[in-house]
Amino acid sequence: MKRVLKWAFTLLAALSLSLSTLAVALWIRCGWIGEGFNYPLSIRTAGPGIIDVRDLSCYITGGGILTDFATLRRPSFLSSIMRPSHWFSAPTGYLYADSVFARIRLSGRLYQRRSLFDFGKFGAEWTRNSRSNSFGDTQLCIAMPLWFPAAIFLILPLMWEIKHRRRYYARCRVSTGKCGVCGYDLRASPDRCPECGTLTAASSPTHTRGSS
Ligand SMILES: [Zn+2]
Repeated sequence: MKRVLKWAFTLLAALSLSLSTLAVALWIRCGWIGEGFNYPLSIRTAGPGIIDVRDLSCYITGGGILTDFATLRRPSFLSSIMRPSHWFSAPTGYLYADSVFARIRLSGRLYQRRSLFDFGKFGAEWTRNSRSNSFGDTQLCIAMPLWFPAAIFLILPLMWEIKHRRRYYARCRVSTGKCGVCGYDLRASPDRCPECGTLTAASSPTHTRGSS
């Protein structure tokens, strides 16, 4: 059981390290390349000639990640254009990729390179009936800088590293005839540490040294 837990800890630490590395890679990349997608989750009729589009958007740009969960109230004739989309922006221009029609277009708008800290901030916003449209949208926006998940996912690998380093040093001490717990010289008392009372491997019956 203990072996399984140890193995699971190692596996989780490795997975966590990969996620942290991914977050760092995205953080660095989004100083140059922005990426986003937009996905309509559901469309339903809200009234005569009116639809509600439940819509999920995610943007990774300028050092941060922003998720936007919205219900957009639109005239129903727009239902045909509510489809998943995916876009990139690069220093050379703005790329827009529509994943349904696999259409890519380049606009003349130049992407402005931002610093890694410029755009990536913590934030949460709930808006209702914004003044920019007369239909009545609701929007939940959550944003965070990408260094944050990078740091969070680094906690488990660091714990793993500290634990294994401690175990490694203990093994080094034991192999040089010192107590694995406190480092006290055990040449005079090989069975039990006189300093901290730890029983050594030499005193346990399974590891008894052959006496000659
Ligand atoms: Zn000791």
